[in-house]
Amino acid sequence: MINKAGKIEQIAKRVEKRSADLFAEIDATARINTEKVLRAMRCLKVSDNDFRTTTGYGYGDQGRDKLEKLFAGVMGGEAALVRGQIASGTHALACSLFGLLRPGDHLLSITGKPYNTLHPVIGLDGSSGTGSLRDWGIEYSEVGLLRDGVNIAAVTGAIRNNTKVVLIQRSRGYRFDRPSLSLAAVDRAISAVRALKADCWCLVDNCYCEFVEDGEPPAVGADVCAGSLIKNPGGGLAPCGGYIVGRYELVEKIAGRLVAPGIGRGVGCTSLDNRLLFQGLFIASHVTAQALKSAILAAGLMEELGFAVSPAPQERRTDIVQAIRFGTADKMIGFCQAIQSWSPVDSFLTIEPAFLPGYGVPVVMAAGTFVQGASIELSADGPVEPPYVAYLQGALIYEHARLALIAAAAAVAP
Ligand SMILES: *Cc1c(COP(=O)(O)O)cnc(C)c1O
Repeated sequence: MINKAGKIEQIAKRVEKRSADLFAEIDATARINTEKVLRAMRCLKVSDNDFRTTTGYGYGDQGRDKLEKLFAGVMGGEAALVRGQIASGTHALACSLFGLLRPGDHLLSITGKPYNTLHPVIGLDGSSGTGSLRDWGIEYSEVGLLRDGVNIAAVTGAIRNNTKVVLIQRSRGYRFDRPSLSLAAVDRAISAVRALKADCWCLVDNCYCEFVEDGEPPAVGADVCAGSLIKNPGGGLAPCGGYIVGRYELVEKIAGRLVAPGIGRGVGCTSLDNRLLFQGLFIASHVTAQALKSAILAAGLMEELGFAVSPAPQERRTDIVQAIRFGTADKMIGFCQAIQSWSPVDSFLTIEPAFLPGYGVPVVMAAGTFVQGASIELSADGPVEPPYVAYLQGALIYEHARLALIAAAAAVAP
């Protein structure tokens, strides 16, 4: 008689066989993106000297300036802010919003409710006096997504005379039923917004989508895009940080918010080992491919075991997130605990749901990661509420995800 783990190993083999074509496509995209990054590194003459730390104000910090040029070049923007001082993806997005919007302006989200941690930034959580956009007199409204992309007809009715920023979130966030937005869908949405109102800016939340396709939002007209370095573009090596890429004048405005008005991006020393940000970007395309293959394996395995998954195993992906619906808190938490116990770091901890800043309900989070909370490393998390969906993402190496997923599947298999 074959045991449960043995049976799941058999399923994994079948999923891998069925996914061979998809895996090959993912490798091809990684080759294109690696070439793009390598060309930019050669063109900018990246050198050992660029990895030095600097102190104080960081005036004339060549490594910082080169890294920012590199990100801008790779993503198809004019300028960038790429720094350890950007504390997270939320911070990168909040700086972008506060840098671009002024009292009396209107912010329109055209991809439904933004990611959870942006609710307090916008003032959607009902709080007041916290310094949210709402406190600063910035109006907000949103248009929900359609199954196949942005609801252009509804956007037409929602744009106001004072609409200054249109927010487009690509990744699904903590949502089972919303797909991630492809670059082509972002392109269509931006073109539609442009046709409706020329004098507003499109800001793209690019978290989890970097290097999944062979282009990034600034290349299709996004005025600004932002994300986290402890997700895809840090390649698992970046120890912290975020990035903002976009049009020159807008990046300047945002730098005025990140640092101070009148100072901007010429200040901010590099106190971390900048090599990790350069090298992280260098391997990011490959690491993103590892994460994508891991997500496909997770989808295939869990679907065969009877759990609803989104996206479906063979669906074309535009982010690295795999949603798995467990239906009960026990199974959701059990799955995440197994992922944790098959992690290289803190495998001995038994994780429990807890309240985290920016999230309204308890969140369970398996992140046995080298970099704290890095979700380009194998991780699984989600708000513990019906229908009990865990969001799995990352994996620096597919081999790790395969081992952990087989164990986690065995922990919840019927
Ligand atoms: C992760 C994420 C964020 C926030 O990033 P943090 O680094 O966790 O602050 C914002 N939007 C989306 C879609 C994300 O996935």
